[in-house]
Amino acid sequence: MAKTRLVIVGNGMAPGRMLEHLFEAAPEAFDVTIFNAEPRVNYDRIMLSPVLSGEKTYDSIVIHGDDWYARHGVTLHKGQRVTGIDRVARTVTSDAGVSAAYDTLVIATGSDPFIIPVPGRDLPGVRAYRDLDDVEAMLAAADRGGRAVVIGGGLLGLEAAAGLRARGMDVTVLHLTPTLMDRQLDPAAGYLLEKALTARGIEIRCGADTKAILGDTRVTGVELKDGTVIDASLVVMAVGIRPNTLLARAAGLEVNRGIVVDDGMVTSDPAILSLGECAEVGGRVYGLVAPLYDMARVAADRLTGGDAAFRHSEVPTKLKVTGCDLYSVGDFADGPDREEIVLRDAARGAYRRVVLKDNRIIGAVLYGDTADGAWFNDLLKKGVDVSGMRETLIFGQAFQGGGQMDPVAAVAALPDDTEICGCNGVCKGRVVAAITEKGLTSLDDVRAHTKASASCGSCTGLVENLMSATLGDAFNANAVKSMCGCTPLGHGEVRRLIKAKGLKSIPAVMQELEWSTSGGCAKCRPALNYYLVADWPGEYEDDGQSRFINERVHANIQKDGTYSVVPRMWGGLTSAQELRAIADVVEKFDIPTVKVTGGQRIDMLGVKKEDLPAVWADLGQAGFVSGHAYAKGLRTVKTCVGSQWCRFGTQDSTGLGVKLERFLWGSWTPAKVKLAVSGCPRNCAEATCKDVGIVCVDSGYEIHYAGAAGLDIKGTEVLGLVKTEEEAIEVTAALIQMYREQGYYLERIYKWARRVGYQVVREQILEDAGKRREYYDRFVLSQTFAQSDPWSERVSGKDKHEFKPLAALQPELV
Ligand SMILES: Cc1cc2nc3c(=O)[nH]c(=O)nc-3n(C[C@H](O)[C@H](O)[C@H](O)COP(=O)(O)OP(=O)(O)OC[C@H]3O[C@@H](n4cnc5c(N)ncnc54)[C@H](O)[C@@H]3O)c2cc1C
Ligand code: SF4
Repeated sequence: MAKTRLVIVGNGMAPGRMLEHLFEAAPEAFDVTIFNAEPRVNYDRIMLSPVLSGEKTYDSIVIHGDDWYARHGVTLHKGQRVTGIDRVARTVTSDAGVSAAYDTLVIATGSDPFIIPVPGRDLPGVRAYRDLDDVEAMLAAADRGGRAVVIGGGLLGLEAAAGLRARGMDVTVLHLTPTLMDRQLDPAAGYLLEKALTARGIEIRCGADTKAILGDTRVTGVELKDGTVIDASLVVMAVGIRPNTLLARAAGLEVNRGIVVDDGMVTSDPAILSLGECAEVGGRVYGLVAPLYDMARVAADRLTGGDAAFRHSEVPTKLKVTGCDLYSVGDFADGPDREEIVLRDAARGAYRRVVLKDNRIIGAVLYGDTADGAWFNDLLKKGVDVSGMRETLIFGQAFQGGGQMDPVAAVAALPDDTEICGCNGVCKGRVVAAITEKGLTSLDDVRAHTKASASCGSCTGLVENLMSATLGDAFNANAVKSMCGCTPLGHGEVRRLIKAKGLKSIPAVMQELEWSTSGGCAKCRPALNYYLVADWPGEYEDDGQSRFINERVHANIQKDGTYSVVPRMWGGLTSAQELRAIADVVEKFDIPTVKVTGGQRIDMLGVKKEDLPAVWADLGQAGFVSGHAYAKGLRTVKTCVGSQWCRFGTQDSTGLGVKLERFLWGSWTPAKVKLAVSGCPRNCAEATCKDVGIVCVDSGYEIHYAGAAGLDIKGTEVLGLVKTEEEAIEVTAALIQMYREQGYYLERIYKWARRVGYQVVREQILEDAGKRREYYDRFVLSQTFAQSDPWSERVSGKDKHEFKPLAALQPELV
C-alpha cells in the first residue's frame, strides 16, 4: 500500500511529539517530510533557560538527533522556511525553492515573539528570547560583560534575567505592571519573587514603561517614559508571543488569534491539520507544552484513523530559576462569588493562596513550598467539593485526615489519575505501571520509559516519592540522590553545578553548593577533586590531600603496609635493558616478590614506604614512568602479538596498543580504565571484557566498550567498526572523554554507559563526527596538562607532606 505523504511545516516540540505517537502506532504508514526555518533538529525549547544559565548544554536538550530522522525515513529540510502552500495542487514550497507534495499537511509554526514598537527596537544588541540563536547571541553578549536590560517580567523574562546574571552580567528587569509574573502570580507571591531575585543581584523595576531603545550603531541603553535612562549593552525583549499564522492566513485558512482547528486539530481545509502554539482550539491558544502534547496525541490519533478529541484543562506554571519555587494554576482573580484561604510564613518566605468558588478550588498560588501543587491541581481538575477539609486545606495534603503524612505516604494516597508530570502529561498510574511492569528502579529509567520529570524536572521529587511508595526499600532515593552525608545533591547535580557556576576549587564548591560540613569527607573530596581536574584542565590545581592513599603515594598499598610498584610497559612490550633495570632494582632494594600482572606488566611487591622515592628514581633513570596501577585513570593497554608475529593477525595490534597507551596515559578518569587490542577475532588479548577493547578484523577495527571482569562479569557492547588506526584512536579518546565528562566518581565505564544509554554513546561518538571531534579535542587539551610522570615529580620533591591525609580514605575494592 502506498504510504501517506505527510508534510509538516515547523519542527518544534508539538510535531516532534506527534511523530513519536505516529511512528509507534503506524511505523510504516507515512512518508514524512519536514521543513523547519531553524537550521537544526528538534530540541527541548523549555530547556533554553538552563542552557543560557550554563546548567545544560544544547546537546543535552536535543529531543530527536539526526539519526532518529534517518531511522524513520523522515526527510528534514533544516533552515528552510515554507513560503507558500498551494492547496489545490497540494504542495508547499520553501524559500530555498524546494517543493513537496502532500496528502496531509500539518502546520506547526509555533509563535513569534512580540517586539514592542519603540524606536531603536531594530538595533544590533536587541534580542527576543525564542530559540537557540537568541541564546547564543545572549551568551556572546554576556562574554563581553556589561548590563543587560530585560523588558518583561514574566516567565521568560525572568528566566532570561537569571540566566544572564548567572553568566556574570549586571541585569535590570523592566516590568510594566506593579508585580512580576502578574498573569500567574498574585501580588503577595509576586512580592516574594521580587525579593528573592533582588537578593541574587537582579535589579527589578516594576511599573516601568519603555519609551525608546537608545544607540547609534548598536544598543547603548533604554529610556523609560519617566525620563530614566538605563545603560545596556544587551536588551532582551520578552513581553509575549503571538501565534505564527502568516502562512495559514496567506493560504486562505480560517484564522482567528491562531489557526482555527476543530477538536481533532483539523483546520478549515480537511487535508490540513494544525497543532502547537500556532493553533486555536475551542477559542483558546496555548503557550505551555502540556496542552500542545495533548494536541500531538490527538493529531496522531486522527491521522491513524482514530477519533480522539482535544479537551481544555488548566496548566500549572512553574518558574525554572533555581531557588525560586513557585507554582500557580487556574484562575485566582478576586471576585464577589469567590473565597480565598491564605497561609503566610514570613520566616520561611513561604506563601499559599487557594481560591474557591462553590466550595471547589478554581485557582492556587504557592510560593516557597510548592510540594502540594500537584495535589491542589488534582482537586481543581476533578472539581472536588472541599467543604469537609476547609480547616486544613491550606496546609496541604499531608494534613488531611488528622496527623501529618510523610511525603511518600502522601503520594501513595493520590489517586491513579493524578497528574505527576505536567510538561508531559504523565499520571501517577502510568508511572506506577511502568515501574512494576518493566522492573524500573532508577529515576533515569522512569524518565526514559515514561518521560515523567524528563522536561523541566520540577516534578522530580514527586516522582522519587512515587518510586519510594511503589518500590519500598528497593528504591533508595538517597543512594540515587545524595553524593554523601555532606550534601543532599547527587553526583550529576554537583557536576552540572560545577560547570554552570564556574566553580574551580573544592572550597568554592563547598561554599556555593552549601556543604553541611566544613571540609567534606572521604566520599566527596576525591570525587570533587576528580570533577575539578576533569572540568578545568590547566586551571584547577590537583589536591593531593583529596586523593585515596594509593594515588597520594603513587603505588599500591598492600596488606602488610608495604607497597607494590608497577612501571609502565607500553602495550605490554619490554626490552633487555628494561628487564635488567627492573632486576637491578629488585636486588638493590631487596624486593621480595616480582609478578607478571593480568594486564601484562611487571609488579614489584613488598617495597618499603621509605624506599619508594629511591625505587622510582632508579626506574626513572632506566626510562620508566609510573604505570598508574593504583589510579582512577588509564592503567594498561593489553595487546596480543598481532600481524607482526601471529599467523592469524590481521592488523598490528601491538603497535596500536603502544600508540594508544602513549596517547592516553596520565589521564584521570572517574574509575580505573583498562584497554586491550586483539589482532583478530581469536581475541588473545581478551578485549571483549575490557572498558574499551579493540578487535582487529580484515576490514578494520571493531571497537568494543563497557565490559567488566571484576565483581561484575560482563561482555562488551559493540560500538562500531572503523577503517583506520587513526579513527580507532580518535573514537577511543572521544569515548573516554565523554565518560570523563559524564561519569560519576567510582562509576566504571560499563555502569556509566548503562546509565546514559548505549544508543546515546553510539550516537555521539560514532554517528556524529562533529561531536566526536569536540570530545577528542577536549581530551587532547586535557592531556597537555596531564602527561607528567608522578614518580619523577615525587622524586624531585613535590608533595613532601603527602602523608598527612585530611580524612582516612580507603582504596577502591573493584
Ligand atoms: C525560553 C523558553 C522557555 C520556555 N519554558 C517553558 C516551560 O517551562 N514550560 C512550558 O510548558 N513551556 C515553556 N516554553 C514554551 C514552549 O517551549 C512552547 O510552548 C513550545 O516549544 C511550542 O512548540 P511548537 O511546536 O508549537 O512551536 P515551536 O517549538 O516554536 O516550533 C515552531 C517551529 O516552526 C518553525 N517555523 C515557523 N514558521 C515556519 C515556516 N514558515 N516554515 C518552516 N518552519 C517554520 C520555527 O522556526 C520553529 O522551529 C518556553 C519557551 C521558551 C522560548
Ligand atoms: S588475537 Fe589473533 S592475532 Fe592476536 S595473537 Fe591471538 S590469534 Fe594471533
